[in-house]
This record gives sequence, structure tokens and C-alpha cells, in this order.
Amino acid sequence: MTPEASRAVLRAARAIKQASRLIAFTGAGISVESGIPPFRGEGGIWTRYDPDTLEIRRFLRDPAAAWPAIREIFYDYTSRAEPNDAHRVLARWESEGRLSFLVTQNIDGLHEAAGSRALAEFHGSCRHLVCLDCGERVEATSTLLANLPPRCPCGGIYKPDFVFFGEGIPRSAYEASFAAADSADVCLVIGSTGEVHPAAEVPRTVKRRGGLIVEIDPEPTGFTDSITDIFIRAGASEAMRELDAAVRQP
Ligand SMILES: [Zn+2]
Repeated sequence: MTPEASRAVLRAARAIKQASRLIAFTGAGISVESGIPPFRGEGGIWTRYDPDTLEIRRFLRDPAAAWPAIREIFYDYTSRAEPNDAHRVLARWESEGRLSFLVTQNIDGLHEAAGSRALAEFHGSCRHLVCLDCGERVEATSTLLANLPPRCPCGGIYKPDFVFFGEGIPRSAYEASFAAADSADVCLVIGSTGEVHPAAEVPRTVKRRGGLIVEIDPEPTGFTDSITDIFIRAGASEAMRELDAAVRQP
């Protein structure tokens, strides 16, 4: 970590220790070190697949045709992925009462796997499937995904329980995220480019209401020059390990 990033960690730790309500907002960058490729940018999923695969009308027209690519994109690697130190520190902070709420844009389920419970998955999660006919929601097991398309006992085809292009944000996740943003005085932003709306409005809401924004990213993002107060230019795992050590100093 550069000396500049280390100094930012110490400033961020002071702000976090003084926070009365800390929330976190995470994007694809937090899961890169868990082996999950981002959607956007160089080496991203959309450089290899057609984003229309996840267009809701196309899926509903022929779910059986869409499923093989969906399984390849989302389930072949998420089934092998493990939470990293950044996911684990956030889960520990929640259990210690340091972190009030966590909003993630990610659908990989790694925050849940790390133990986070005060969590809104803004775009849903690939860890669950929902039946298109009866609405039953089940865990996406390898058994269910062995024969495509996966089917509910009622005969309906399952859809991954994440937000497709052309679909709205799940109401409960939306409301919980903005309620948390309304009452937060510090927001820790990790690995989000700030390009996806309305999710990017969550940290912007904290800022608008007078809160402080701490951002962790190896590169400047759409947030850095607009709303970020303290920028820790580093990878998510390393930065969160350092930040965790720093908040434990007296
Ligand atoms: Zn069903």
C-alpha cells in the first residue's frame, strides 16, 4: 500500500470510529479478488457475452434457450467463489455493531456467504431461483441446475432471482437501501464505479444529507471527484484489512 493510501486509512479509521451510523455500499470491485469477473470494463463479462442474454423480455419469450448461457456466466464460477477479507471484515463489523447496514450491487451472494445479514441485495442474488409460474423461491443448487431449464415441482421454469435488464429493483431492497442512506452519517463505498443507476444514488443520498464518503478502489471512479471525502487507493481486501486494524487502535 502506498504511503498516501496508508494515511487515508488512518483518516478513514478516525471517521469510522466517530460515526454514529456507518453503512457500506459495494460493487463488483469487492468480488474481483474472489475470482468473479466484473461485467463492465476490460476482461468483463460483457466483452464475451451479449448483454441481451439478460434482457427480461427475451428470457420470458424462451427461458429454455437462455438458460445454458446464464448457467455458464453466473453459476459455473460463483459456485467456486469464496468470500475474501473485504467481505469478511464487513460481516465482522456488523456483528460487532460497528456497521449498521450494507447495500450491495453484486448478485454473487458473497456477502451473505460471509455472514452479513443487515444486507440489501439491490440487484437480487444468483443464489436463489424464483418460479415463473407459482413464485416459489428456492436455493440454486447444483442438482437443480444439472438439467436445464431448471423446473419447479409445479412444472414452471425457474428464473434466477436477480434483476434482469428491463426489470425494476426489488421494492424491499430499494426501500431498505434508501432508508439506510437517509440515516447514515458515514458511507464506505467499495469497488463501485458509480455508473449503475439508481444504485449509485445510495452513496449520493448520504452525501446530500451531509454524510461523509470513504471510498476504496484501486482506480478513481465516478464517485472519486464528485462525492468522495477520503479516497483509499488500494484493492478491497488489503484496504479492509488495514482499515480493520486501524479502527481497533485506541
Ligand atoms: Zn412453481
